[in-house]
Amino acid sequence: MDGIIKLRPHHLLCTQGYSGKGYSEGFVSNMDIVTKRLRNNPDEKVEIIFTTDCLCSDCPSKVAEGVCKTDEKVQRFDKGVIDALGLKEGVYSYQELITKLDEQLGAGKEDERLKAICGDCEWYPVSACWRNIRDKKYVL
Ligand code: SF4
Repeated sequence: MDGIIKLRPHHLLCTQGYSGKGYSEGFVSNMDIVTKRLRNNPDEKVEIIFTTDCLCSDCPSKVAEGVCKTDEKVQRFDKGVIDALGLKEGVYSYQELITKLDEQLGAGKEDERLKAICGDCEWYPVSACWRNIRDKKYVL
């Protein structure tokens, strides 16, 4: 993928929890490319956008530009991350964002801070989101 990676806020969490599973083959291939770039390049920038992004583009749940089949849920997840980081739309360093996020969400007793944002996501019980965030696995 060329150009800056555009991410909606809660995908800052998904790009850390992702472990090769996803909604469709196309979604997984795209996710592989995006996470490889983000996880291996300390200088990678991301553009935060409050709408569908470059991961939604290959997702079967994307209905149209700016519309996800599960908008009620994913917009709530986005809001949790916006509030945690005081985010606005714009360009940021991926590493700076996840460093702050992992410090905040990993500080609780267990996973209660992450759970409050996206605990009802279908991937939450089966993925390594909490472990990776607590261990700051992708902070370079
Ligand atoms: S489920 Fe919705 S928010 Fe998540 S990647 Fe698919 S279209 Fe985007």
